Amino acid sequence: MVTLAWHVKPLTELLSHRGHFPHSLLIHGPQGIGKVEFSYSLVQSLLCLAPVNHLSCQQCVACHWVAQRQHPDLMILNIEGNVTLEEDAAEDKAKDKKSTTINVDAVRDLGPFLTVGAQRNGYKIVLIEQADALNINAANALLKALEEPPPNVLFVLVADQLKRLLPTILSRCQKLALRAPNAKESCEYLKIPESEALSLLAVYGTPLNSKRALEQGVEKLRHSYLTLLTTPQVQLTELSVLAQKIPLEYWLDWTHKWCNDLISQYFLQKRFFHIDVAVNLPTVEKVIIFDLLAWEKQLKQAKRSLRHPLVPKLLIESLLIPWLSLNRSLYLNP
Ligand SMILES: [Zn+2]
Repeated sequence: MVTLAWHVKPLTELLSHRGHFPHSLLIHGPQGIGKVEFSYSLVQSLLCLAPVNHLSCQQCVACHWVAQRQHPDLMILNIEGNVTLEEDAAEDKAKDKKSTTINVDAVRDLGPFLTVGAQRNGYKIVLIEQADALNINAANALLKALEEPPPNVLFVLVADQLKRLLPTILSRCQKLALRAPNAKESCEYLKIPESEALSLLAVYGTPLNSKRALEQGVEKLRHSYLTLLTTPQVQLTELSVLAQKIPLEYWLDWTHKWCNDLISQYFLQKRFFHIDVAVNLPTVEKVIIFDLLAWEKQLKQAKRSLRHPLVPKLLIESLLIPWLSLNRSLYLNP
């Protein structure tokens, strides 16, 4: 379990206060920067039998147990009810029909774990991978445990959005904000040429999200999708067939970003997202900017309310229809 390069410093600093830890620690920051990975590095370092400079040795039996998510003094709560890394969790969300919340039963099941002493005479740790996914009953049940924490129990909560947590939970936790990696750290993490890495970061925001898009094989569809999207007089059927081969969240995000690229091209003469795609870039005339802005609003709304529609085709086509008329205006009236 390798600690991400941009986490080494905050992790070492945090671990240097070992012994003065609060009962509950809330790790937060933007989506996709590796907060869950950080938490596992923290947990492993705390449970390690022979830490080196505060960090886990990666060799001892405790380190192996944590790596396999099977340490007897570690309890993991996440939306799948199983063990996953942040990357996998997001991947599952893209495909899935699974739950998007942690329910009260999961928190109640902590009871026996909290009341029995630590097996290895150290910390017992409860790691909640998506604390912002606790439903209201689960959050209230957790609050009870946070208010009267058993000795030597550490709660590690991870969240993208603090505003989705109960204020009473927030006030019980010591907060640790993690920063996003900078461009250099991101490029080093991706281990691909810098220009390629910067292009991916422009689209996906963080190196972990970029890596996931590469590993899932969706990134290679982006260029063909944008090429088809910008083909003059493209037909809805053809576009829809290709769009349906792309995971819905990616398709919507790419399309929204393409729309934003056209808008910024008009106002700022610059693209910010699909900077690497050598598409047939049209000149955006004043006459269609309002149509583009209206389409952007529709796409943004769809992104906000995306809840795995029963018939993705309908959603896709309803959002592509405005583009067909924009496409005609953009490419036929130079
Ligand atoms: Zn170890």
